[in-house]
Amino acid sequence: MVSRVIPVEPFDLVIFGGTGDLARRKILPGLFRRFCAGQMPPEARVIGAARAEMDTSAYRTFVSEAIQEFAGVLTCEDGTLDGFLERMHYVPIDARGENGWSELADLMRDDVVRAYYFSVAPGLFGDLAERLNLHGLTDEATRIVVEKPFGRDLETARALNRDLAAYFDESQIYRIDHYLGKETVQNLMAVRFGNMLFEPLWNSQYVDHIQITVAETVGVGGRGEYYDKSGAMRDMVQNHLMQLLCLIAMEPPSKFDPDAVRDEKLKVIRALDPVEPHHIVRGQYEAEEGAPGYREEVNDPRSRTESYIAMKVGVSNWRWAGTPFYLRTGKRLKARCSEITVVFKALNHSIFGEQEDHRNVLSIRLQPNEGITLGVTIKEPGPGGMRLVDVPLDMSFADALGDHASDPPDAYERLIMDVIRGNQTLFMRGDEVEAAWAWTDPIIDGWETRGDVPKTYDSGSEGPVDAVQMLARDTRVWRKVAS
Ligand code: NAD
Repeated sequence: MVSRVIPVEPFDLVIFGGTGDLARRKILPGLFRRFCAGQMPPEARVIGAARAEMDTSAYRTFVSEAIQEFAGVLTCEDGTLDGFLERMHYVPIDARGENGWSELADLMRDDVVRAYYFSVAPGLFGDLAERLNLHGLTDEATRIVVEKPFGRDLETARALNRDLAAYFDESQIYRIDHYLGKETVQNLMAVRFGNMLFEPLWNSQYVDHIQITVAETVGVGGRGEYYDKSGAMRDMVQNHLMQLLCLIAMEPPSKFDPDAVRDEKLKVIRALDPVEPHHIVRGQYEAEEGAPGYREEVNDPRSRTESYIAMKVGVSNWRWAGTPFYLRTGKRLKARCSEITVVFKALNHSIFGEQEDHRNVLSIRLQPNEGITLGVTIKEPGPGGMRLVDVPLDMSFADALGDHASDPPDAYERLIMDVIRGNQTLFMRGDEVEAAWAWTDPIIDGWETRGDVPKTYDSGSEGPVDAVQMLARDTRVWRKVAS
């Protein structure tokens, strides 16, 4: 299969925070990969803007090192990196002061798409928006990209939305949730809405329950100070897991258009039930040989922040009432895996007599080994009567689509190109983010009021035993955490 790459329009992309960790590990390598794929037109430029005093030549060295460390294996011709570096420019700038703004204004061109990536702490979003406006650096076609965390509760998210809305229309604001840029997440929509097969069964009449798992093997590491003020609920559930839940649960939008999709996602968030305390298990990992426990890592022996959370969530609408969604995410677990599993109901009558419990299970794997597997029940081969067995019908993209699928673009690559194209489908709208916080806030407030203390769990395990018991009470089991 031949890969079709359509170059985007010429652009000036300014990366505020262009010397930061995110720029180094994700944004710059992502842009380079798109450059190698032929998607960046000759007139496209990238301008790093950050506090560090350096010139364009030093920035090109910085970018070159970032590419070599993080861009991965590429089949780029010799000289390609030099060609990419020629597009790089740098301006030292202060988001809170006057330094650098007139130099940036001199660099920007009028006849290309202007995009500003706010890869800085959220506390600077308002300052950047204000100064861009003050220095005449925006027009109606300008786009801004903002990073997570988008607030730490409803009040702060509203304040951020207000700060941006003072200078930009909602159609100009691209709130990144990089989970939405993952190939398989988009495939989830293709599978649901591009096939006759699944949609008629996609409801509480046929679906027993749904599990969404995002498991990491790493601990909080160097992010301890930030993480301890946040926890798994704010860091993962309110954004990434919630977005996955929306895509699974939403009604079919009338067309694949940004607002049609986001309207449907918003309806799901608004239909989420409040979560009862006994439907939540919070955990903290314990020390293992050679690795400190959570409390040691964040340097607070009394920390009550969760590094793990499992919860049972209900969606009160016609389609889903009665089908629970079980979400879980945590650090220092047994394996790194992100997976959505749709477990269908058992047959209401088996013509084959007494058999074990057989179910169709659709697994959508985000990482590692992106792909979709459908478990179907067939006859066990050989003589000896009609014994049934479950086997996977494997939709491995690499096998079916060859090279085209073996190296899919990283989420950031895709999302940045979508910004240049002006396509907001895979970005969160302001009202979605606020609705997600409105659901999350009372849950967190409840823990704080009750003085809830997370359970402990062994590093390298599948999480606290209480999470297993929570499902056992519903006569269900978690899928194994396996890579
Ligand atoms: P970082 O601390 O590594 O870099 C911050 C950047 O902001 C630097 O380039 C710095 O020069 C610049 N900066 C700081 N103050 C400034 C000022 N007053 N004026 C101009 N520039 C200023 O941070 P990071 O890890 O790159 O994260 C950037 C943003 O992305 C944050 O909002 C973070 O939450 C978010 N984010 C990061 C990651 C990640 O993997 N690093 C993942 C998701 C979201």
